[in-house]
Amino acid sequence: MLPGKAYIQTHGCQMNEHDSHRMRGVLVAEGYQMTESPEEASLILVNTCSVRHNPENKVYSFLGRVRELKQTKPGLIIAVAGCVAQQEGENILRREKSVDMVFGPDNLFNLPEMIERVRGGERVLMTKWQPNEQRVQNFIPDEWVDKGHVEGCKAFVSITKGCDNFCTFCVVPYTRGREVSREASSILREVEDLVSKGAREIWLLGQNVNSYRAGSHGFYELLQEVSEVPGLKRIRFTSPHPNDWNDRLSDLMAANPVICNHLHLPFQSGSDRLLGLMRRGHSVAEYLDKIAHMRSINPDIELSTDVIVGFPTETDEDFEGTLRVLEEARFAQIFPFKYSPRPKTLALKMDDDVPRDIKESRLARTIELTQRISEGDAQRYVGTEQEILIDGAHPRERGMMSGRTAGFRPVSLRDDSIEIGDVVRVRITRVGGHWLHGDLVEQDRDKSPFEGGSRGMSSETVVIL
Ligand code: SF4
Repeated sequence: MLPGKAYIQTHGCQMNEHDSHRMRGVLVAEGYQMTESPEEASLILVNTCSVRHNPENKVYSFLGRVRELKQTKPGLIIAVAGCVAQQEGENILRREKSVDMVFGPDNLFNLPEMIERVRGGERVLMTKWQPNEQRVQNFIPDEWVDKGHVEGCKAFVSITKGCDNFCTFCVVPYTRGREVSREASSILREVEDLVSKGAREIWLLGQNVNSYRAGSHGFYELLQEVSEVPGLKRIRFTSPHPNDWNDRLSDLMAANPVICNHLHLPFQSGSDRLLGLMRRGHSVAEYLDKIAHMRSINPDIELSTDVIVGFPTETDEDFEGTLRVLEEARFAQIFPFKYSPRPKTLALKMDDDVPRDIKESRLARTIELTQRISEGDAQRYVGTEQEILIDGAHPRERGMMSGRTAGFRPVSLRDDSIEIGDVVRVRITRVGGHWLHGDLVEQDRDKSPFEGGSRGMSSETVVIL
């Protein structure tokens, strides 16, 4: 009997998106067809995030809804994966009787075994940490390295997982474990395979990507070698930590045209006192010095960042410091969050004393300021030519295609002859909100080997501000 259809719902970061992509690969290899509708699925998997409180709540409300489906479809398998699964483990099985399996990020390649056990009548829990050697192997077991598939023109490749930094607000070290780095040879093999299947842009992923260290390879050596893979047009990576960012890496980025001209470097707060309470391990001045060096050798670099507002004890003065960093660093994009206490973290012991309305107004001010800076700075593109990788249909404007500059600015253009995966030169004619609009300059299109051009399918979610 065929296993039927599988539905995956994903919450959270790119790491989770990537895990879901790999779980899709495992399920398809097991004979499942993927579906967008939970109602027609025989396996429903929710890949969870616990970095903020909200996504966690959404998971339980989703489980409440699929519980009803199980009453009409007794063979339905319901699985919970990801960070909430790792953190809550058995509690989920206790709280939601309809759930059949709960497993952490390190166990996704055990899906076939877990499904088999559920079919045999068990409820399965797989969240135990493996020894580090096993965790390195678990990035992608050898037999899966060449089985990746490419959707659109971009592909994600994990290079580190876990984190040893234990910032006081962050749950990641508890849900993703201690940091391990993957063998460089395995990473290169996967990148070569994905490029041969049509990937033009590779995203190197890790919680702390630039503390990568495997044998003689640090992040610098890895970036250099990945950039030499024939046919690869662009490399992006996320997220680096300021402590592990150095001028040598900035120099490499400025000199190597395959490494995109965009750096996402979280700064979290513009107050040294709060950075200390967060255990970030650097000061505001140290952060800004790194940015200043980067801009001095690479004036066109685009920057983005993460900011937390309303961390315990944050005063108006602390927050003004955050606004000053936003002014000085001139980020094109920020991912701002209102602080919420997370289980097991050290900050949980602090009094969450900033009132909700103040958190909200600070959040709004960070967004408003960055929007103003980013949209103002975007004017410098008008009249210039930019190389754009076409990544899909415009999410809102019918008949328009979209792509990204090397600096990660979204660009919209109309041309019936371009397809997803094309690298084209575009003259920027105007700025509208955070979008650049332009016209095709020359059709020296560098064709993607990707054959299923699927015009009309956007290959990513655009998240700006
Ligand atoms: S470095 Fe990043 S992932 Fe690690 S604990 Fe800090 S915020 Fe979390």
